[in-house]
Amino acid sequence: MKTQKLIAIEDQYGAHNYHPLDLVIARAEGVWVEDVEGNRYMDFLAAYSAVNQGHCHPRILKALKKQAAKVTLTSRAFRNDQLPLFCQELCELTGFPKVLPMNSGAEAVETALKAARKWGEKVKGIARDQAEIIVCADNFHGRTTTIVGFSTEEQYKDGFGPFTPGFKVIPYGDAAALEAAMTPNTAAFIVEPIQGEAGIKVPAEGFLKQAAGICKRHRALFICDEIQSGLGRTGKLFAYQWEGVQPDGVIVGKALSGGFYPVSAFLSSEEVMAVFHPGDHGSTFGGNPLGMAVAREALRVLVEEKLTENSAKLGPWFIEELQKIKSPSIVQVRGRGLWVGIVLDRKARPYCEELMKEGMLCKETHETVIRLAPPLVITKKELRMALRRIEKVFKRLDG
Ligand SMILES: *Cc1c(COP(=O)(O)O)cnc(C)c1O
Repeated sequence: MKTQKLIAIEDQYGAHNYHPLDLVIARAEGVWVEDVEGNRYMDFLAAYSAVNQGHCHPRILKALKKQAAKVTLTSRAFRNDQLPLFCQELCELTGFPKVLPMNSGAEAVETALKAARKWGEKVKGIARDQAEIIVCADNFHGRTTTIVGFSTEEQYKDGFGPFTPGFKVIPYGDAAALEAAMTPNTAAFIVEPIQGEAGIKVPAEGFLKQAAGICKRHRALFICDEIQSGLGRTGKLFAYQWEGVQPDGVIVGKALSGGFYPVSAFLSSEEVMAVFHPGDHGSTFGGNPLGMAVAREALRVLVEEKLTENSAKLGPWFIEELQKIKSPSIVQVRGRGLWVGIVLDRKARPYCEELMKEGMLCKETHETVIRLAPPLVITKKELRMALRRIEKVFKRLDG
């Protein structure tokens, strides 16, 4: 069997730093993926929201091919003709005046951390090496040593110390704790407007507004990590827009390139971005013409195909339908837009494995939550199909 053979090879030669569902995907299109045996599945993970535009979107594929035949990498030692237009288009779309492109999400988070610290020292006047950054419990911001250092997930840290100092952790959604954690040395508060990896945790209404106000009063930067929550996932371009706040900086990645190529970015005000001078920070691949051409088209697809609007329209209906499922194991169905967590009173992995047998891929998060996050190109008909499959699995496992 092809599947078992490929899994055996991967297990033999590859590092075992993941525990994937045992299917081997060979191709994909839109909401659908196909494994090496020819089985088809609906993808309800969408690569953690990196393929909001759907798999192998034909327009993005065309842009990638076109650019790949021209020039792919110049390094930032020279300029290229795609970077300026990417910067302009992303800034105009998001309303931020400045952008710094990187590749992976973690790199863009690191960029935000560096910007916040340097802004703290050079603009706010914090003494050298004294800047503090406040983060939330159960955060997920990536996997570098600095970032896992302020994670509260023991496994993410175990064995990887010593860690970067200068971070303070408060409970997620707790404005009073944020206020109490502020000191004259606070450079920034970095937060996911909805916590994805923690299980699609939506903070209490008003938290982001309060947090923005507290940051302003203490002259600390309010920075949102929208790598997973942004670019249409919650039914708005950014999840912070649900509370009408304006952060000082925002971090984007994942769907920025529609799943074709890693592209991430840190967006901020003129004042914050002005801390970076030539030589302060960089990346060989950051801002490369291939990535920029792909991201430009991925953003155009997001806007022109009204994917954010589709999430806003179908999300609440989908959540309502899920809430109608009667099962003793379901504690809560929560989410925003097409980003849903089914919280169980038991382990979610067996449900994900059964859903796979029904032709539906999703991944448990935090042991007991089934995360549903399909590509935003999904139709109501496809969501109905998914609902039937989910109902079937709950009937089977509950019975
Ligand atoms: C995925 C993710 C990251 C890290 O992005 P990578 O591309 O995996 O480095 C950071 N923050 C959030 C909220 C994410 O979901």
